[in-house]
Amino acid sequence: MSESTKGGIIKRRDFLKIIAVAGGTAAITGGCSSQPVEKIIPYVIPPDNVIPGIPNWYASTCTECPAGCGILVKNREGRAIKIEGNPASPINSGSVCARGQAMLQGLYNPDRIREPLRKSSSGKHEAVSWDEAEKALAEKIQGVGGAGNRVVFLTNNVSGTLGKLISDWLGAIGGGRHIVYETFAHEPLKEANKITFGLDKIPTYNIEKARFLLSFGADFLETWLSPAEYARKFSQMHSYKDKSMGKFVHVEPRRSLTGANADEWVAIKPGTEAFLALGIANVILSEGSGSIPGDAAKLKGLLSGYNSEKVSSITGVPQETINRIAKDFVGMRPSLAIGSGAANSSTNATQTFAAVNILNYVSGNVGETVNFGESLTISQANSFRDIAALVDSMSKGEVELLIVYNVNPAFTLPKSLNFGEAIKRIPYVVSFSSFMDETTEVANLILPDSTTLEKWGDYTPRDGIYGLIQPVMKPVFNTRPTGDVILSLSKKIEGLKDKFPQPTFYDYLRDSWKTVHSQFGAGKDFETFWLEAVQNGGVFKEVPPAEVKISDQVLKVAFVEPKLEGDGDMYFIAYPSYRYYDGRGANKPWLQELPDAITTAVWDSWVEIHPDTAKKLGVNEGDFLSVESPYGKIETQAYIFRGIRPDTVAIQIGLGHRGYGRYAKDRGVNPIEILPNAMDEASGGFAWLSTKVKVSKTGRSAQLVRLQYTETQHDREIAQAVSLKEAQRGIQRKEEAEIANEEQSGKIGMYKAHEHIKHRWGMSIDLSKCVGCGACVTACFAENNVPVVGKEQIGKRREMHWIRIERYFEEENQNDSNMRFIPMLCQQCDNAPCEPVCPVYATYHNPEGLNVMVYNRCVGTRYCSNNCVYKVRRFNWFTYTHPEPLNWQLNPDVTVRTKGVMEKCTFCVQRIRFGEDRAKDEGRDVRDGEITPACAQACPTKAIVFGNLKDSESEVSRLSKDERGYGVLSDLNTHPAITYLKKVKWDKA
Ligand code: SF4
Ligand code: SF4
Repeated sequence: MSESTKGGIIKRRDFLKIIAVAGGTAAITGGCSSQPVEKIIPYVIPPDNVIPGIPNWYASTCTECPAGCGILVKNREGRAIKIEGNPASPINSGSVCARGQAMLQGLYNPDRIREPLRKSSSGKHEAVSWDEAEKALAEKIQGVGGAGNRVVFLTNNVSGTLGKLISDWLGAIGGGRHIVYETFAHEPLKEANKITFGLDKIPTYNIEKARFLLSFGADFLETWLSPAEYARKFSQMHSYKDKSMGKFVHVEPRRSLTGANADEWVAIKPGTEAFLALGIANVILSEGSGSIPGDAAKLKGLLSGYNSEKVSSITGVPQETINRIAKDFVGMRPSLAIGSGAANSSTNATQTFAAVNILNYVSGNVGETVNFGESLTISQANSFRDIAALVDSMSKGEVELLIVYNVNPAFTLPKSLNFGEAIKRIPYVVSFSSFMDETTEVANLILPDSTTLEKWGDYTPRDGIYGLIQPVMKPVFNTRPTGDVILSLSKKIEGLKDKFPQPTFYDYLRDSWKTVHSQFGAGKDFETFWLEAVQNGGVFKEVPPAEVKISDQVLKVAFVEPKLEGDGDMYFIAYPSYRYYDGRGANKPWLQELPDAITTAVWDSWVEIHPDTAKKLGVNEGDFLSVESPYGKIETQAYIFRGIRPDTVAIQIGLGHRGYGRYAKDRGVNPIEILPNAMDEASGGFAWLSTKVKVSKTGRSAQLVRLQYTETQHDREIAQAVSLKEAQRGIQRKEEAEIANEEQSGKIGMYKAHEHIKHRWGMSIDLSKCVGCGACVTACFAENNVPVVGKEQIGKRREMHWIRIERYFEEENQNDSNMRFIPMLCQQCDNAPCEPVCPVYATYHNPEGLNVMVYNRCVGTRYCSNNCVYKVRRFNWFTYTHPEPLNWQLNPDVTVRTKGVMEKCTFCVQRIRFGEDRAKDEGRDVRDGEITPACAQACPTKAIVFGNLKDSESEVSRLSKDERGYGVLSDLNTHPAITYLKKVKWDKA
């Protein structure tokens, strides 16, 4: 948005224009503020379903990762403005992760491909009409004739109707190959299940039922299989209730965000997880227990070779730890072992999963916490071996036409595979990408797909879940859904017309859903069934667990240590990002601005290195290090991290794009580039952990831009915790911690307590539930038009986050690190230190206890920010821009702030007003739980609860009186409206 005023003074020409167009009132308003002036054009003929000011919600399915969460999309006056989780979806039950919410920034991304493009003879992409583009492709297909293996359609996991259309269509043109490529395809997990149980499937894990969870590096709160679902289930098993809680032990060479939530971190030697799983299973089997299935006895011979002593020498895990974990694993049943995650999958990954299966089997968990009834469709993806074979046939000139949909192999495959060279051997490459990513850049023809929010479709992430995708608004650009293009193409190819008579993909989808109707229609006619499915976001059915028996095949598995290349002395871990996944999220500014939970770094990469190793090399934070494998070298800044083994370094996947739009280009490094082309032979899966590296200083250094540089609490008791035993004995709350109890507020302090007549809005945040995922942070950005300011401004401490997740390390011993997360936002204090210092009353206390901001009063002295003990007030140093059409996402219920104005969290006052007005219209009081701020709504663990503290029956009132409750820095007599519930920690073993 451009400014039409300078220094807050409207220009004479603009003033006259406004008078002419919008009338005197608008002119006066414009002249009193520094807001840009815009024309208002009313509907001439209003659309039927649009009532100005009232949102419409559309149910759909998220496609940002293979998990397939259900979403609800809020549409205001024709624009999608917010994404929330669909409560009807059994996967995410109403919450949605940061990546899912950022889908909007894919839809409105200013760097989207806006029309079909064709590469000219000069090598440049030039715009063509859809008709021309489709004709060009139709001719090519006819030219290839009897396609055979020479046509390849490379897609992501299109498990629904689009996948069927692609397969049918390839069959019709003469039999091209449909190859499904997922960066994290979990091949070893599938293969291990085939070997151990005779099931070529990936199960669902019932984490919520487990009392003891043992993860062998599975980052299930970040990217592993179904992170939003597993965050919810983890919260159910691990949060403190009824004086008890489950236990979580995480085994991994580095402590991921998932590991940061563990009660114990076991820093195992990289690639040796299988041996630890076998060692634990051996202890369980040899000590015996009632839960051991009868046929597990056949494993005795195999397991007897893995006694604690031997396992300890291979893995570096003390014998005492192995025996203790084994005791808990069987003593705290039902238990569950999962993993490993992609980052730790090596050349022996199938063996690791097989060992984890054995451990689950001997403990009687299969069928209880491991559910093969609800198997995941990602198991249908091709293996890395298939992808490598494809690249090989591309290099040999066997592929004449490559069609790419929703994948970016030029970025996600290791350079050592030579995809970049192989694709150049293909005479014609077609991309359906919406973005100019590294693969699309080399395409001869680009037919830009409409995004998930602009088209019809469906997606089945697992058995029993049939998610529907519907357009939630008109396409932003001249793009078309790929399904429509395939059908339209068919009408241009000789002999295909009759095979695909449906005019659009919508018709094709409905036809295909007749099968779903015949299965689940239960006496309803198709139209009723279809409308209900569209309204609910799909059809969701429970599938009973499948009966599973151990197979003799597993007895033949030879367990060996991983093969690692390179003569460096450090293990190298490239791990998936919970913000960017495999790199696809890097073009979304909300995700770039979302601090990494552990480092709190933004907009860049870093290499994690242990303090001892850093000391040995003379490395300080921010020093650029060279990380070199036999396949290349990358340079990035050091982050000194106690949560990594001294012999290991790690870099997050996702950044390092050489294209992909302004937000992603030339930002950070891509660790995949230096990985060998290595695989786990048994499954054909890519071996992510397969090289050792040399690490050295480059001599360059710069500030590593992070949100939080204070690593510990310095005894300020911000993120408090109690041991489980203490909690069970009962906690005595401090008197000053009676924060939310209004009667207390008059006791201390010199001001008279505020009176709240009907509502005193408050919040409780349970630190035993918060996992630090940042979904709340992105939700707040989306809801409140919080500006993205970029790396440079954040480096100057000018971030605009209204809510941030503070992360603190609790020193326990040199090699351990106990981390705590605490969401920090405006506490809406009753004795607010910010209020009395504002010279112009821009911030004041409203009758409902909110500490509100009147933007057009604010003159920017920043006294309030200086006086705020929580440091949650944000000052606009500039008028931050939302490049067109990114500004279409802005919430019309929230003012867009301009420079010179202070801003902060208001408990989403617009949502409060909406709820209050609705209750008033219906002649009733606001119901408990009816108003939910954006952060609380998004939270997958339900750590945040909002409500009326004046209502003694409300959930928030109950929680604010909980014995674990305390107010952050409430000794300062601020009387915050937020009660934090202390984290509960297992007592040290
Ligand atoms: Fe942001 Fe609303 Fe949560 Fe405050 S209550 S942090 S404004 S989402
Ligand atoms: Fe994630 Fe925020 Fe909920 Fe914590 S409070 S679990 S960071 S959404």
